[in-house]
Amino acid sequence: MSYKIGIPRALLYYEYYPLWKEFFTELGAEIVLSSNTNKSILNAGVSSCVDEACLPVKVFHGHVEELKNKVDYLFIPKFISVYKKEYLCPKLLGLPEMVINSIDNLPPVIDVEINLLKSDDNLHKSVIEIGKIFTSDNKKIKLAFDKAISRFNEYRKLLANGVIPIEAIKVYNKYVNSITTLKNSKYKILVLGHSYNLYDEFLSMKLIEKLQKENMKVITPDIVDIGKINHYISKLPKRMFWSFGRKIVGASSYLIEEKAVDGIIYISSFGCGLDSVLIDLVSRKAKKYKVPFTLVTIDEHSGEAGVNTRLEAFIDMIIWRDRNEDYISTHG
Ligand code: SF4
Repeated sequence: MSYKIGIPRALLYYEYYPLWKEFFTELGAEIVLSSNTNKSILNAGVSSCVDEACLPVKVFHGHVEELKNKVDYLFIPKFISVYKKEYLCPKLLGLPEMVINSIDNLPPVIDVEINLLKSDDNLHKSVIEIGKIFTSDNKKIKLAFDKAISRFNEYRKLLANGVIPIEAIKVYNKYVNSITTLKNSKYKILVLGHSYNLYDEFLSMKLIEKLQKENMKVITPDIVDIGKINHYISKLPKRMFWSFGRKIVGASSYLIEEKAVDGIIYISSFGCGLDSVLIDLVSRKAKKYKVPFTLVTIDEHSGEAGVNTRLEAFIDMIIWRDRNEDYISTHG
């Protein structure tokens, strides 16, 4: 029998979907993805989730609502740590419990813990635990995971070659057969933020696509070399122990100091505690190196018209600055 596994198209979907897709498919399961985020998913998430949660967590609840009656299992792992000595945001740590306690009539939830804080062994145990749902053959589970890792490494290679996840995942989901690359983009814009804010086109109001239509080359932290990120983040006086914080601050520090970007747009969800620290670090560095910086804060009431106006003004300013201004601060 082939089980249907529901994967919400939200939060860490944008980091690990290709890995889980291969793993479950190798084990004979059928993946059911929720739709792209839309108004009714957002509304469902807002009504079922606690008010205090941030926007992406509310949206995640909406995706679960959409999937819950269509699948045999829901996949909501409990992500604690994905690298040694690093953590994820506390809201992700408690995600399965939050969902289970907020939404009624759920199918069984695969809420296995992923915790690489001290060693990789935990991951292998977690993988076997998930695989046991489909087979009692540990060898088969291990083989499926090895294959998934090797496909995931291929996906990571796409990112290393400058393909942003939103495009690479589309290839994996077979929405597109090839990747379009922009030619002759004179201006490079670094778009910062958590992957689930950047690449969810409903939440970001297609900001990346809008920049690309203006022939801007978009860079996101996911396509920056991990060696550079680690080198630049190690310059902070204190160790940054949030994995996403390391990626955002390390990538932006590298690109700012190397003068490799013409402007920075940070997309943040209202009420994100992590971002309040990260935005301060990035904006100070941008100011020091005279790189234009703007913050787009999103919440469930965000209007697209306001974001479009800010984006147009930002692009105009970048182009004007390039043509007319010489080393004058854009920060006033
Ligand atoms: S890092 Fe911020 S946006 Fe992400 S889950 Fe935590 S609070 Fe929400």
